[in-house]
Amino acid sequence: MVNCIGIKSTHFSEKLNSEIQPLVPLEIKIESLKLVGIAQIPQIVYITSKGRCSTFLSKAKFLNCLLCFLQIKQRHFSKIISYNLQTSGININAENGKYFITYSEIHAFLERYNRAALEKLEVELTAVSSVVRNPIKGTVAEVNNIGCSCADMVYRHTICKHQIATHLYLQSNGWGSLAEYLQQNTGKNWEEKLLTMAEVAKYDLGL
Ligand SMILES: [Zn+2]
Repeated sequence: MVNCIGIKSTHFSEKLNSEIQPLVPLEIKIESLKLVGIAQIPQIVYITSKGRCSTFLSKAKFLNCLLCFLQIKQRHFSKIISYNLQTSGININAENGKYFITYSEIHAFLERYNRAALEKLEVELTAVSSVVRNPIKGTVAEVNNIGCSCADMVYRHTICKHQIATHLYLQSNGWGSLAEYLQQNTGKNWEEKLLTMAEVAKYDLGL
């Protein structure tokens, strides 16, 4: 039997909405990131429509954000062992190597992570991409192996909120990354799936 998981269109999931929690319940523009005290608790300083403010992030939450960033960038990324803040960014020691994320990159990422949660972006997987819908504005963007169709990704070359929503959705459904998910739909398997689809379509048409 052919496994049609990648073809079958899933309904927009409500599951994601409850799973991404915003860092701050308002749109934010991050000014700085610090590790505070002996416990080295991550703290972000930011501007919102209401003014300037700061908040602490749990270490687990911050680690998850770093992991999400690196997993979207790297196809085969495993585990973070440790990290420390330098003058221009974050040094990360991972199981499969060392990484460096500049402050401007991580600020942009956290702002978009927050936005993905606030906008309650909905993800639908197709065989070749992830379709991300903003239920408030009614806009749609498509994420694939190369990137995203939105202006943020195309012009600013940042990781966009659609990629973040897609990645977190895939993870909550047991996939490591979008690349891993899409790989299931290429090559021989994919051809078989297309043939099955064609058969079904013929049958539906009474041919
Ligand atoms: Zn996008």
